[in-house]
Amino acid sequence: MATVTYLAKLGELTLKGSNLKEFERRLVNNAQLYLETVRARVLLRAGRLYIEGPEESVPAIEFTLKHLIGITGWARTFVCEKTVESIKEAVMKTAVAAKEAGAKTFKIDVRRADKSFPLNSYELAAEAAADVFDQGILSVDVHHPDLLIRVEVRERCFVYDDRNKGCRGLPVGVSGKGLLLLSGGLDSPVAGYRMMRRGMKVDCVYFHAYPYTSAEAQKKVEDLAAIISSYGVDTHINIIPFTEVQMRIKQRSPEEFSTLMLRMCMMKAANLLADRLGAQCLITGESLGQVASQTIENLAVTESACAVPLLRPLVGLDKQEIIDTAVQIGTYDTSILPYEDCCVLFSPKHPVLRASVEKATEIFEKLEADELIQAAYDKREIKRFAARDYVAEHFATPKTEEQ
Ligand code: ATP
Ligand code: MG
Repeated sequence: MATVTYLAKLGELTLKGSNLKEFERRLVNNAQLYLETVRARVLLRAGRLYIEGPEESVPAIEFTLKHLIGITGWARTFVCEKTVESIKEAVMKTAVAAKEAGAKTFKIDVRRADKSFPLNSYELAAEAAADVFDQGILSVDVHHPDLLIRVEVRERCFVYDDRNKGCRGLPVGVSGKGLLLLSGGLDSPVAGYRMMRRGMKVDCVYFHAYPYTSAEAQKKVEDLAAIISSYGVDTHINIIPFTEVQMRIKQRSPEEFSTLMLRMCMMKAANLLADRLGAQCLITGESLGQVASQTIENLAVTESACAVPLLRPLVGLDKQEIIDTAVQIGTYDTSILPYEDCCVLFSPKHPVLRASVEKATEIFEKLEADELIQAAYDKREIKRFAARDYVAEHFATPKTEEQ
């Protein structure tokens, strides 16, 4: 059966000097995890990632390359002999496929790693392009082509077009582990994705207040965890029942402080979990000034209840920037479903805008919530989502004996 070859270019990790080997290993290993149930081979050669497999593995390989963090771009590649004729043939196939996808103009970029090739780069580009424009398939535009066809002459020849962007960033797993406070809104899934792109392994925690928050709200958060796990290789979501903690807040906290008290209680519970999981930080979707609990004073209060570093990757972004990323990573449609992750019963009409840490700590102590928090933590439920399970369910190809 014919083999298809995909090539991906490594991003920022190529800048990492002495850690380069570890980063590359991690990238290859992550790609292999996606493709565990698929007849495909992942290799790293001369700073490029190659994935090869039979035609039937194409959907799985493309899913992997669309989600794998650590690559700047990827392409299905024609691999051919180092002869002008076979290069021309591959260029023609690439051009025809791009024309079908709507391209009108093209340019060829040649790189000759093998300097013994008889034509120089300029001559090879001219020769390889000739048939495509002579036959009226595409016209040449050297400044803003719809299609850039790359020809690389190495130990073999690789011909591909340069349109598919990768997720960029550092391979997941090279920057430790964080615990994401994942709610059903737009922000926290984006925050998790942002940290994954910095190479962080991300697990999640969700606090629910059943029956005041619905089973649908919980399902929505699980769906979001599943979506972000397709970028993060895998993720665990810990679901902590917080109804009793919320009731305690309602009984003992001045109403205007109740949201902040809830944030502080979440931080305490998340700290217990981070400790257990070996997570080195907490991550939230907070953004400065977005809602009352996110003034700089109130962010300081939340942070005061947190023992490990609290990372807020969205702190300086505006809502539209967050929405753009949510659309791009595929969480937007789920996030805007109308199941709320908090309940009006617990939401103050006039939340305090600029609380002091001293005052908030004083109220927090009066809650005497530590035991309730510990009990809620002990009752947590854990679900796991993994990119490889998604691939296995949707695109698995049976392995043969010899693989
Ligand atoms: P999001 O869009 O992520 O829901 P938001 O703009 O609604 O955020 P808040 O509701 O104030 O803002 O929440 C701030 C952050 O606190 C969230 O981004 C999330 O990290 C965390 N958080 C809030 N509610 C929960 C919850 N029920 N479970 C876990 N984390 C939560
Ligand atoms: Mg929210």
